[in-house]
This record gives sequence, C-alpha cells and structure tokens, in this order.
Amino acid sequence: MDKIIIEGLSCFGKHGVLPEENRLGQNFIISCELYCDIEEAAHTDNIDKAVNYAEVSRFIRDFTENNVFKLIETLGYRLACMLLKKYNIKKVKLRVDKPSAPIGLPFKTVAVETCLKWNTSYIGLGSNIGDKKAYLDMAVKELSSDENIRLIKTADYIETEPYGYADQDSFLNSVAKIETIYTPFQLLDKLRHIEAMAKRERKIHWGPRTLDLDILLYEDVVMDTRDLTIPHIDMANREFVLKPLCQIAPYAMNNALGKTALQMYRELNGVSPARQNTDTCQTVKG
Ligand code: ADP
Ligand code: MG
Repeated sequence: MDKIIIEGLSCFGKHGVLPEENRLGQNFIISCELYCDIEEAAHTDNIDKAVNYAEVSRFIRDFTENNVFKLIETLGYRLACMLLKKYNIKKVKLRVDKPSAPIGLPFKTVAVETCLKWNTSYIGLGSNIGDKKAYLDMAVKELSSDENIRLIKTADYIETEPYGYADQDSFLNSVAKIETIYTPFQLLDKLRHIEAMAKRERKIHWGPRTLDLDILLYEDVVMDTRDLTIPHIDMANREFVLKPLCQIAPYAMNNALGKTALQMYRELNGVSPARQNTDTCQTVKG
C-alpha cells in the first residue's frame, strides 16, 4: 500500500510520570507512516485529493502540546487513533521518541512505536422477540454511531426459521460489514453492550433473544479463546448467516476452514455452482 512518511517532527510536550516533566516539559520527536491510497491525488495533482502532510504535522504538534499523558505509549496510541479517524488513512505506524527521558544514564533515545489500522469485520445480527426490525435497526445505528467503527454496508434483513432450539418464533437476520479500530475483544465488548441495550437475557442456549450480535470474521484472524472464537465457530452451518454474508461479501474468507462465504453456502445447501440460486429464506424489505 502507498504511504506518506513524516520523519522526526519535533514537538514540545509535558508528558511524563515525574511532576518535573509535567511542569517543565521537554522535546518529543514524532515520526509516522500513513498508509493510504495516493492514486487519485497522483493522477489529478490535486491537494484536495491528498492527505495533506502539512496539516497532519500541525495536528500532531498541537495534540502533543495540548494534552498531557504519563506515558509515551498513551500519547502514541491516542495520536494514532485520532489520525485514523480524522484523515483518510487505512493504517498508521507512529513512533514517539523521548530523547531527554529521565533515565540517568547516557543514551541516544528511547521510543515507542504503535501500529493501528481499520480492520474489516463482518457482524451477524439476529432477533426473534418483539419488534425484530427495530432491534436490528437499533444495532446498525449503534454500530455506525461509534467513532471507532465505520459501517460499510448491511445485507437485506431476511426472515429465517429458528436454529437449534426449534420451539420459538422465526428470526430476522442480517450481516453488517464494518471497519473498526477495536481489537476483537474490544469489539465483542461493544456488541455485548449493544445487546444489553436491547435488554437481552441469556436464558436458553440458542433460545429466543431480542438481539444477537456475533463476530463472524475479523480480518484474517483465527483465534480460539474461552470468550471469543473467530471465525465464528458455527458459521458454516448457519444459512441465516451465510446467505446475507454472500449477498455483501461472497469472497469473504473463513481462514479456519480455508473457504469463502460462497463456498460455505454452496456446501451447506448441497448445491452445485450452477444451482446456487436455490433460496430457502424470504427477503424482508429493510
Ligand atoms: P450464539 O451467538 O451462538 O447463539 P450466544 O450469543 O449466547 O450464542 O453467545 C454466547 C457467547 O459466545 C458470548 O458470550 C461470547 O463470549 C461467545 N463467543 C465466542 N465467539 C464469539 C463470536 N465470534 N462472536 C460473538 N460471541 C462469541
Ligand atoms: Mg451471540
């Protein structure tokens, strides 16, 4: 990916654990690599299409001067977050040097480097109690209004038969494609928070719920922990997940299985590629 590089930007700041540092201040040197698509700017030769490095540099300097943190880890992380949200940047690598850090030994510099990016993730949405459409709409709105999340698109809402525990109302399901700065665990927390807003109660496993939000995929991450498994462990068996996922991202990859959404969908339905349009779910106009 293309990148813009700012190297050795000198900024005065009062960051530090010691009170003298907060009182007197010192010099911090900031360097960053801003990964972005420069194609349009390069072809049009138009500054409005470019990430303006002068503006970014002034923003970094102002942020460093106008805030006080104990740790350069925090300064670097906060700066990287702000840059991702404020400018059209996909990924940022940011280094904060503190050459006058109070170490009491001869040294050249001490630095912390942070790397942060917008990660693509697919979220499964489901509801089968009350005003199902309103619950899904609420979830989509909550996702899109979080500054650490960008909603890219949402599949049509589809009505589906209950899965697992059959003695319950039909579901309304969808999948949202998002980009997020959150780590997988932070994202899970966010989803649990939105579920809680819908007053979700966990009574019966796979039982009725006002709102169920699952992380289906998160970049190419494969992880299996007590609280979080990515890709979602059961997605290949769930038509109500695969159908909307195929609508918005047929080639999204499940790296645990080495299969795309479309492959999983076809295998689940036992259809050959020529018969892939066989539908068992009814689309609900959202
Ligand atoms: P399900 O979504 O399979 O119907 P629940 O919504 O009741 O079941 O999920 C129970 C737990 O599953 C959650 O508390 C969460 O910790 C865990 N979990 C594991 N992997 C994931 C994932 N990829 N997305 C969401 N929750 C997950
Ligand atoms: Mg769930």
